[in-house]
Amino acid sequence: MPIRATKRGDERGPLSGSHDVLICGASFAGLATARELAGSGADVMVVDRYEIGERQTSACGIPTDWLRATGLMGAERQRFDSLLIHTPHGSRRYELPWTFSTFDYRELCELLWEQCDARFETAKVNGRAASAGGDGAIAVETDRGTLSAPLVVDALGWRRVLASGDGYQPPDAPLSRGLEVHPHGSGPDLEVWIDRRYVPAGYGWSFPAGEELRIGVGSFDPRFHVRETTELLAEDLGQDRVRYQGNWIPHKLRAATEGGVFFAGDSAGHCLPLTAEGIRTALYFGIALGQELRAVHAGRQDRERAAARYAAFNDSHEWKFRWMLRAQKLVPRIPPRLLGPMIKLLGSKRFVAWAFDHYLRIAPPAPLPSAHDQNGAGHQQGDAEHPLGAERNLVEAEQA
Ligand SMILES: Cc1cc2nc3c(=O)[nH]c(=O)nc-3n(C[C@H](O)[C@H](O)[C@H](O)COP(=O)(O)OP(=O)(O)OC[C@H]3O[C@@H](n4cnc5c(N)ncnc54)[C@H](O)[C@@H]3O)c2cc1C
Repeated sequence: MPIRATKRGDERGPLSGSHDVLICGASFAGLATARELAGSGADVMVVDRYEIGERQTSACGIPTDWLRATGLMGAERQRFDSLLIHTPHGSRRYELPWTFSTFDYRELCELLWEQCDARFETAKVNGRAASAGGDGAIAVETDRGTLSAPLVVDALGWRRVLASGDGYQPPDAPLSRGLEVHPHGSGPDLEVWIDRRYVPAGYGWSFPAGEELRIGVGSFDPRFHVRETTELLAEDLGQDRVRYQGNWIPHKLRAATEGGVFFAGDSAGHCLPLTAEGIRTALYFGIALGQELRAVHAGRQDRERAAARYAAFNDSHEWKFRWMLRAQKLVPRIPPRLLGPMIKLLGSKRFVAWAFDHYLRIAPPAPLPSAHDQNGAGHQQGDAEHPLGAERNLVEAEQA
């Protein structure tokens, strides 16, 4: 059970002041953005309602190469080179062309934070406040006072707290629903269930992470309540129903900037439809955003240019998210009796390698050759398009 570390009552004094960059949200997207600003000389303030790493927000599964590329291997708990998919009509093991890892949330956040040189305060963000001066600074109201900065990031998750209007509420908004339990236990396999017994549109999972299992159900239909079937899956696996963790999961890309504020991670709908994988995309877009903000601080571009460039980067991924959403809508329509044979048919090593490599390339860890591709032609994406590649370009430009 996560231990509450967040300061309460008198321990939390009033907060005010202006900074070069204000990052709201200290999870994957927010910390990745802050990490890119390290060493830039910018005065960066990060705020979150909880202490860093205090509240786990997911099953914490990610392609291993992403941990490697970001120096976060220390948080890894278990590694998998295959995925076991169960349907009511049979199971199939997919050999993956790259490995997938589970990690410890607290440790990963702490490792990310070690790579930052920002300041941190716990504060609940309530929304935008009226800006005082005409200097272009954006004011943000928190439960401890008002903070302001010319560069403000909303990495607060699906609620998109710093956007205008509140017309994005479940169950009408394009959000999936996810809930999991975290019993003590272990297992050798990364497992997925496509079975209407658990959810009509969605899937169940069991992600082992060392001495803990993360067993859950995700529903693409926000109206379907997943608590009962999460408990059913845990019961079917003979596991305790303890330590619940759940949230809404966006499955549609949203505008990356609005009213001068930058959005990254779930607040921008960066979680992938169908698989609900949102950690590596939060890191990917967070890194890209951090680099744009760094260039603003270095005087190489203004906020408007950074916004235009970041929005273009975001939008260039829209078709990939659209295709994933199409697949998300299609899978539940496949008659259950055809699911088993289809999963078997699509299980050839060549097809799986092709499909998973394309999937990884939506937000690749770095322009590295893929595990199965001996010729090194696995990742076609050029350095300039890739945040981790662009990082090098930026550093070179700064040195020039
Ligand atoms: C049950 C479940 C399992 C999942 N499993 C996986 C998985 O295995 N792999 C994967 O890739 N994705 C998974 N996801 C999706 C993944 O969790 C999200 O896409 C990812 O966490 C998005 O990162 P983020 O940094 O944008 O937002 P979050 O991780 O949601 O972080 C938002 C941060 O903002 C803070 N915050 C929110 N509101 C306020 C406020 N008003 N004031 C101050 N702070 C605030 C929160 O405390 C939090 O620290 C899962 C989701 C769910 C629900």
